[in-house]
Amino acid sequence: MTTYKPLPGYLAQRYHGWKATTHRENQAWYRRLAEEGQRPREMIITCCDSRVHVTTMFGSDSDELFIHRNIAALVPRYAPDGGHHATSSAIEYAVSTLRISHLIVLGHSQCGGVKSCFDMCAGHAPDLEQKASFVGRWLDLLREGYDSLPTELGGEAACRSLERKAVLVSLENLMTFPMVRSAVDAGEMTLHGLWADIAEGGLEAYDAEQDRFVPV
Ligand SMILES: [Zn+2]
Repeated sequence: MTTYKPLPGYLAQRYHGWKATTHRENQAWYRRLAEEGQRPREMIITCCDSRVHVTTMFGSDSDELFIHRNIAALVPRYAPDGGHHATSSAIEYAVSTLRISHLIVLGHSQCGGVKSCFDMCAGHAPDLEQKASFVGRWLDLLREGYDSLPTELGGEAACRSLERKAVLVSLENLMTFPMVRSAVDAGEMTLHGLWADIAEGGLEAYDAEQDRFVPV
């Protein structure tokens, strides 16, 4: 009985502020959203990192972005093996049921997940090597990205490069999902790879023709 406590006061206070202003002023719209269901145009797969504030970055309102977050914004390959696949289920729902038009993978600078993968692959994070480490096993998805890093890169530069590679690995893995491939091939949906610079507020998009990230 002592495990679950009331919501911290500061959060309750912020909630009541939102309810009394934004929600009250748009109540009919919220009711319509509740009746008609969501119709987001984009799905964004991004990192759990609290500094990646996608709704603020894109000025989005309710019903605009279907957001899925995980450690380092990684997408696994299509694997219909009966396991508990949170990311894959979100992708399936967004593509097959919501029929989103744009599927965006958004990585970011100073990503702790990517840094952990870098340390693990370099042999500096034995805890993450453990079978019982959920984070470590999740970050195995990015080992191929680490293995493809130019050997001359080190430290910060290598991490920045691996952050962008993580986006590309996720985009490639997305295309192993039959529903993603068929929506892309039919011209019903497009894939986009982005990388956000936390400190500078920068945003880069992957340009397939140039095979590099370019500023938006
Ligand atoms: Zn991150």
